[in-house]
Amino acid sequence: MISNFTTLGVSEEIARAMEDMGWEEPTPIQVEAIPLGLKGTDMFAQAQTGTGKTGAFGSIVLQRIEAGMKIPAAIVLVPTRELANQVSEEMEKLSKHTGHVCVPIYGGASIEGQMKRLEKGADVIAGTPGRVKDMINRRALNLSKISMVVLDEADRMLDMGFIEDIEDILSAMPRERQTLLFSATMPEDIKRLASDYMRKPKEISVSRDEMVLDLTKQYYISVGRRNKSWALCRILDIDKPKAIIFCQTKRMVDILDERLSDLKYKAEAIHGDMPQSKREKVLRDFKDDKTDILIATDVAARGLDIDDISYVVNYDMPDDVDTYIHRIGRTGRAGKEGVAVSFVTSEEEHLVREFELRTEMTIERRDVPEAEEGSRDTIRRVVDYDQISDVYGMVRFELNLGKRDGLGKVGLSDFVSRAARIRDVSIGKVQIGDESSVVEVHKEFGNRMTMDVPKTRYNGKKVYVRVIQEKA
Ligand code: AMP
Repeated sequence: MISNFTTLGVSEEIARAMEDMGWEEPTPIQVEAIPLGLKGTDMFAQAQTGTGKTGAFGSIVLQRIEAGMKIPAAIVLVPTRELANQVSEEMEKLSKHTGHVCVPIYGGASIEGQMKRLEKGADVIAGTPGRVKDMINRRALNLSKISMVVLDEADRMLDMGFIEDIEDILSAMPRERQTLLFSATMPEDIKRLASDYMRKPKEISVSRDEMVLDLTKQYYISVGRRNKSWALCRILDIDKPKAIIFCQTKRMVDILDERLSDLKYKAEAIHGDMPQSKREKVLRDFKDDKTDILIATDVAARGLDIDDISYVVNYDMPDDVDTYIHRIGRTGRAGKEGVAVSFVTSEEEHLVREFELRTEMTIERRDVPEAEEGSRDTIRRVVDYDQISDVYGMVRFELNLGKRDGLGKVGLSDFVSRAARIRDVSIGKVQIGDESSVVEVHKEFGNRMTMDVPKTRYNGKKVYVRVIQEKA
């Protein structure tokens, strides 16, 4: 078999796995790094998340170590548990036909469980420096057979203060080894690390112009929690996508599944609490187009290999960039365009900026798609006080009362307080106009303002209340 990957020197087994993953052509970092790495050269590469760097070092590592040796021959150090999982997942996929075993190791999860997995034998470890060091100290991790080391996202590991752990781990390993370092930026301390712990490393860098994810259009929609399902139904009704929808918790997956199924969408859920047989069936249905919508947690979506997903919806925004990249990497595959849209509440908007910086990509703001003329929304939009309140939780309401009714600030505030049974500490600024006024009230009394106040009268006059949806 000759493919775009085998011409780089990638073995047939690994190239086949890459094809199975829907990869058609190597990315620029893969073109540069793979042939060099396969020769056994140390290198430090400047490459960001989304360039295909995991595929680059993954294929080098898997090709240069034997499978089934029980004691790990390669270790990948990564900054976060998400990345540990993702690297190990991608390794598992790449080794589909070689049979290497990759085990993730990270803090915050049971050390015994991870030790058990190691005892069963591992060829590659993907771990965070803190936990790896901990395991070395407990003699639960044997690094004596390591011949390959990868430092992934080295700049982030240093930013997180892992330098000492990394140096300890590197010193605990055989000197006779190949070391690969990947980093989005190349500050001096990374260069020093490279010169101290690597042998004649070659430096490579790729421009970020050719990100794998370039085929995916990224958007975000600013929407409060209470209106997420309204926004989702608009998207489903108007764009009719083949979509995978990510939620943060299993519970949320179940709730959304029930809601969408009640509304007669062809949706199914997948999460870790479901038996394997059920999960397989859900996936088959989705692949065979019996369902259009798959609602999933990150954990359940691991290892999913589905090519023609046109849409990824982050119903809940992930809080780290690796998970974000990983989720949206499920669309825009194999040369097809995809769309990734994230629902972002007002407190989460900073994440959008952060992800844009980290990936140097743009995530464009978009409005909820307009419903077609005359058609009704499947789910009604509700007032989401969380979304429209200010930092103190205050929401503005307009009333049809003002100076003409003989009211001043104090009078109006008293009236609102009585009519809606609101303590005056929960009433903020009052702006009196001639005909109408604006009163700030804490969001927890939002419903009373719109429900109770209009039931009362002021000097015999019927009172109207309107929520002001824009933030002050
Ligand atoms: P990374 O930069 O390693 O985080 O990879 C970003 C995404 O690109 C992951 O979802 C990879 O599976 C995917 N990917 C890596 N290499 C290729 C390739 N040659 N063709 C298509 N997708 C790829």
